Amino acid sequence: MSACRGELEPHLGAGVAAPDPEVLLAAGARFELQLGDEPFALARAEIEDWIRDAALAVASYYGRFPVARTTVRVRRVQGDGVGGGNTRAWDGSALIQVELGEHASVEDLKEDWVLPHEMVHLALPGLPRQHHWLEEGIATYVEPVARAQLGQLRVEEVWRQLVQGLPQGQPEPGDRGLDRTPTWGRTYWGGALFCLLADVGIRERTGNRFGLRDALRAVVAGGHTMLSTSTMEELLALCDEAAGVPVMSELYAAHATEAVTVDLDLLWSRLGVSLRGRRIRFDDAAPLAAVRRAITAGE
Ligand SMILES: [Zn+2]
Repeated sequence: MSACRGELEPHLGAGVAAPDPEVLLAAGARFELQLGDEPFALARAEIEDWIRDAALAVASYYGRFPVARTTVRVRRVQGDGVGGGNTRAWDGSALIQVELGEHASVEDLKEDWVLPHEMVHLALPGLPRQHHWLEEGIATYVEPVARAQLGQLRVEEVWRQLVQGLPQGQPEPGDRGLDRTPTWGRTYWGGALFCLLADVGIRERTGNRFGLRDALRAVVAGGHTMLSTSTMEELLALCDEAAGVPVMSELYAAHATEAVTVDLDLLWSRLGVSLRGRRIRFDDAAPLAAVRRAITAGE
């Protein structure tokens, strides 16, 4: 631990207190938690539970936690709740920086999506810049699904987020495809829409035996994490092989350099999902109801 202290200090940003490295073991991986010296309303054990819950959701989705060593640097900010986060490979391990309000509560941590989103980033190799939408799309799509699979998030909430969020991922006039349109909407929600289409497409063509999770698990099982890099072609070949159907390569070929508007109303109707006010309703007689259930059940 003390050896890490010296390595970390040159990288600290202005205004960050001296690191307070302590190791937390969770989900079969090692987390070095840096909280700084300023107090939080939350107890350290409560912050550790937050890290543990996020790590468990990600490890459960991927079959294991993607990297062996992660530094989680919590930056104290004013107010409550969880603020922004970022994740990067650093010195042979991973560094997640996340902002936490000085008055944040346990309830804020239970509702937090930022830390599990950042941890999902660890499970994908670095891709060339034009494919950033896939990195953010996977994190946006997998985070609520992984939490729902562990019972940390209600299934209705997963679908409410998708129904309300995904229209922001549709192309706007002038769009030149996912690889050539690096707007916020296309990067986060366009990427998430690609993931939902992949999940549904793989499940439809394999009789619901395989899904996106199997494809992404194969990436991690092959030793590919944020600590490595890949081309899109290598990554998609790995995913397609694990799924047994070339759904992801075909989707990529269709969406990379062309603006494709997805018929979301049709998709929701086939999955049996509708939004009435703020309430999600499910139709178990819908043709893809079993696919919908399998996505959040982790079957
Ligand atoms: Zn992200």
